[in-house]
Amino acid sequence: MSVHLDQRQRAILAEMGVRVWSPVEEPQTVSSVTPPHVPARVAPTIAAPVVRPATPILVQRPEGIDQMDWPTLQHTVSQCQACSLCGTRHNTVFGVGAKAEPAQVPQVDWLIVGEAPGENEDLQGEPFVGQAGQLLDNILLAMGLSRQGREQSAGVFITNVLKCRPPGNRNPKPDEVAQCLPYLERQVAVLQPKIILAMGRFAVQALLRDSVPDVETIPLGKLRGQVHSYQGVPVVVTYHPAYVLRNLPEKAKVWADVCLAMAKMQTQSPR
Ligand code: URA
Repeated sequence: MSVHLDQRQRAILAEMGVRVWSPVEEPQTVSSVTPPHVPARVAPTIAAPVVRPATPILVQRPEGIDQMDWPTLQHTVSQCQACSLCGTRHNTVFGVGAKAEPAQVPQVDWLIVGEAPGENEDLQGEPFVGQAGQLLDNILLAMGLSRQGREQSAGVFITNVLKCRPPGNRNPKPDEVAQCLPYLERQVAVLQPKIILAMGRFAVQALLRDSVPDVETIPLGKLRGQVHSYQGVPVVVTYHPAYVLRNLPEKAKVWADVCLAMAKMQTQSPR
């Protein structure tokens, strides 16, 4: 058997330390038979290199997201090719939170919604693992919570509006948000959190677009200090941790928003 390789694929194999033998100049091939001049050893198994097409093939989201159970939703997100971000991502970032048995829904009181994965999140497949994530973890700690959920503590789930990283951490585009929003909608419907903390303008706009007219024209600061609603779940608005890192005096406002959310949580009936 022989495999045709282009220059880029050959370069990738060279990077991996895989010697490519070609009997003739063109076409370039990898032979499954060890060539005679190579010392006898087990020929390496060559994994097909991942070659991303310059223009990704977009595929419509499947029907019925609004009926999906948790594992199906997670799998669907992992396969999503509904917008061009699928062509540049390393991983989809579904979310992280309270541990659950396989195929079970995490028991969650809190849902935290950010904007989109950044570089670290894209590489690790987990939201908020960079500097902004450290700040979020500290906020959770101060609330007596943690991203993994602890014994005695109410469960938390952390996700983003976009499940894939916009290249160069640019802002999400409206069509990307539109394609991704059904996933967040279903996450909320399945998790049934008692409260949502919307961090930053993209989370706020995504969650309040149906309940606050012209929400995209309203400064985030003006939406703070009140309890909004999404799918009947109370929503508290606050600044994004990355913004806070650039504007440290705003930290106190985030804490005030968190206190508002905790006070609202006290009024929610137990599960
Ligand atoms: N910023 C976000 O909004 N989400 C992440 O997951 C990381 C950084």
